[in-house]
Amino acid sequence: MTGDSVNENSKMISLVAPFYNEELVVDKFFSRVIPILEKLGCPYEIVCVNDGSGDATLALLLKYADENSSIKVVDLSRNFGKEAALTAALDAAVGDAVIPIDCDLQDPPELIPRMVELWAAGAEVVLARRADRSSDSWLKRTSAALFYKIHNQVSDFAIPENVGDFRLMDRAVVNVIRSLPETRRFMKGIFAWAGFKSVTLDYEREQRIAGSSKFNGWKLWNFALEGITSFSTAPLKILLYLGIVVALFSLCYAVFIFVKTLVLGIDVPGYASILTSILFLGGIQLIGIGILGEYIGRMYMETKRRPVYVVRKINMQPPEVK
Ligand code: UDP
Ligand code: MG
Repeated sequence: MTGDSVNENSKMISLVAPFYNEELVVDKFFSRVIPILEKLGCPYEIVCVNDGSGDATLALLLKYADENSSIKVVDLSRNFGKEAALTAALDAAVGDAVIPIDCDLQDPPELIPRMVELWAAGAEVVLARRADRSSDSWLKRTSAALFYKIHNQVSDFAIPENVGDFRLMDRAVVNVIRSLPETRRFMKGIFAWAGFKSVTLDYEREQRIAGSSKFNGWKLWNFALEGITSFSTAPLKILLYLGIVVALFSLCYAVFIFVKTLVLGIDVPGYASILTSILFLGGIQLIGIGILGEYIGRMYMETKRRPVYVVRKINMQPPEVK
């Protein structure tokens, strides 16, 4: 890759975007993204994955695909979630570089030319970092910061902070990601796990252009749990150490009671302390079983080896209007 200018580069760029109930966004997305891609002067494709939308998203996507042969539409058989939709998009993309982007334009497509330049200059991954997240709520920002902190403490590799799915990846990186066999896919972690030479660009996260976020607090919490249990067994280790600490503490307490009984005789009252320790230990054991269960559940889902997503059709023509 030597091209000094992006325009001399005849390699193909794939922009990939998942769509879930985004009928308000489709027009704005294409009208902002297409001029930017046209200007690059290299071949491009836009892979749109319809993640089981119940509104007019699919019809709109197909209308655009009909008018513009660079637009590819992958229609999933139901809503599989963003991670699966993104996996489908990576599988369908054929470009030499692939750029996942949120279709709500919270990731500014104006960054793409710079990303392509850096890629042409030799970067295998160009990360886009949200330098300013003031468009996200306080809760989202704080919980995200906490997630990165915990994940990067307990995992063998770090997920770069405030970097979402918006990034450019060379074909070699995409091939590695596609070859991973796991069916529960936490893409942010998978992207980071793959490694490769990366450079980072900062950007300001914008407001959603229309529609509303598909991720509520509960979904985000589960997403964070998924992230930590996907790439680390640290919670299991923490349990082990907690067990050791509690056992040591109990031993000391037992010695204390033994000596106290020898010196002061039998002391019958003790209802409160017995009840408290039973409840405390019961609580710890339940937490332990819960954490174990989380991992066993993941193993169970993985052993089924079900496909990550099901495609109904790729690049369907729009239904004829009578
Ligand atoms: N999305 C998806 N499937 C889902 C949920 C979301 O394909 O089940 C897509 C959605 O259409 C958007 C992107 O994932 O392109 C990010 O979603 P959203 O903007 O709701 O998330 P947020 O930016 O609030 O984290
Ligand atoms: Mg969004």
